[in-house]
Amino acid sequence: MSTSSNSEHPSGQAQQSQADTMAFRISRIQARMADACARVGRDPAEVTLLPVSKTFDTSAIREALALGFTRFGENRMQEVAQKAPLLQDCNVNWVVIGHLQTNKAKEVARYASELQSLDRLDLAEALERRLQLEGRSIDVLVQVKTSTEETKSGLEPAELVPFLRQLAQYPSLRVKGLMTMAVLSADSVAVRKCFSHLRQLREQAQQEGISGVSLERLSMGMSGDFELAIEEGSTEIRVGSAIFGSRAAPA
Ligand SMILES: *Cc1c(COP(=O)(O)O)cnc(C)c1O
Repeated sequence: MSTSSNSEHPSGQAQQSQADTMAFRISRIQARMADACARVGRDPAEVTLLPVSKTFDTSAIREALALGFTRFGENRMQEVAQKAPLLQDCNVNWVVIGHLQTNKAKEVARYASELQSLDRLDLAEALERRLQLEGRSIDVLVQVKTSTEETKSGLEPAELVPFLRQLAQYPSLRVKGLMTMAVLSADSVAVRKCFSHLRQLREQAQQEGISGVSLERLSMGMSGDFELAIEEGSTEIRVGSAIFGSRAAPA
């Protein structure tokens, strides 16, 4: 920051405006990610930050693109279909993280580079058919339900291994790992348990040695709980409000 601009503003105000930039918020998140890694002896390079741009407009996405991000998490295909044409001049990879109706498979096949919320065979089947028509394949993560909250979607843990075996029939779906949402709770013990549960499920599934399935990636952790997720082995945190600001309505 130049001394001339400092002299024009009371110093408190200058600090406030720096804290308000997306670059500053992201650098704070990255510092917290590095600290969480350090606490458990992990290499920070193992953990990716996925900005979740749902409900935010394309100008916010352009700001993040300028900071070097190319993948963006969205939970509604309708919103992706609105934003994608406005960002055709940019190299955006849309990552679908929300619960999907099977009739949205066509939009996923057209726009998405990745789906993190695969949780049932009829969706896999519909995606495979649509992806073959488009001549594309996408990365997928299987969403597992690690909390008992009714509102959380995802596969029941006991169904995971049989489900992964069946995914081998769908060559357009490249299985890369698992995703979960922890219980929404102030009780960090309960939140941590969801994350460690996903890691254990990954280990169990890996021991089964399912062909054609890689389970390297664990997508877990959001603005409110990403440090716990990293301590429990997350390889990717999905962060919306801590980057873009609070959302007007729950999405
Ligand atoms: C909205 C959303 C996020 C990001 O939530 P924040 O609390 O804003 O960081 C992460 N994952 C999923 C599946 C979401 O729907």
